[in-house]
Amino acid sequence: MLMRRLAILGSKEDSLVNDLKETTLSFKKLGERYGVSRQAVHNFSKRQGVKRPVKPKGHQTEECRLCQKLIQISKKPHSEFISTYTIVKETGGSWEKYVRHLRTLRSKGLVNPKFGRLHSKRVEKAFAIYFTKRLPIDTIGRMFRYKNFSSVIRRHRELGWNVPPSLYVYDGRERSRIRSEIQRRKQR
Ligand SMILES: [Zn+2]
Repeated sequence: MLMRRLAILGSKEDSLVNDLKETTLSFKKLGERYGVSRQAVHNFSKRQGVKRPVKPKGHQTEECRLCQKLIQISKKPHSEFISTYTIVKETGGSWEKYVRHLRTLRSKGLVNPKFGRLHSKRVEKAFAIYFTKRLPIDTIGRMFRYKNFSSVIRRHRELGWNVPPSLYVYDGRERSRIRSEIQRRKQR
């Protein structure tokens, strides 16, 4: 087995020397590429006295599939309101896996600071309607069993979420109805 492995390597030695000198691929990865063990590549590299290039420090966002996928999702409109469930569903894998990558992306300013912080499917669904449909806020609230969806919107705004004004334009009568409704609630 060992003889065979070395023989295979033998015919590709020059190419392996190049890869060792020019790439930062691990001995394990190179072993897989050349059909030999990690240890065989390590020994070969030592025997040849190859000086390996230094791997750039830190996480390489541009080369990370997960980071790229997260950036792609974060470019969608109102992406702060995409819940973690949906992000996981669209990317596959587990949330634990993404948290670390997301933190890096946030610290580099490559995604919105609120992206990936929404953990409620209900909030996500309600806001998806709010952003796209011309419906009164109360109506959207009722659809998702919110007693007071306006306060949910206000709370998010206060915490720095980007919530645009409602698409629904309240006419004068509607406005006075709401005002008297608020008045009634206060008196209770
Ligand atoms: Zn990453």
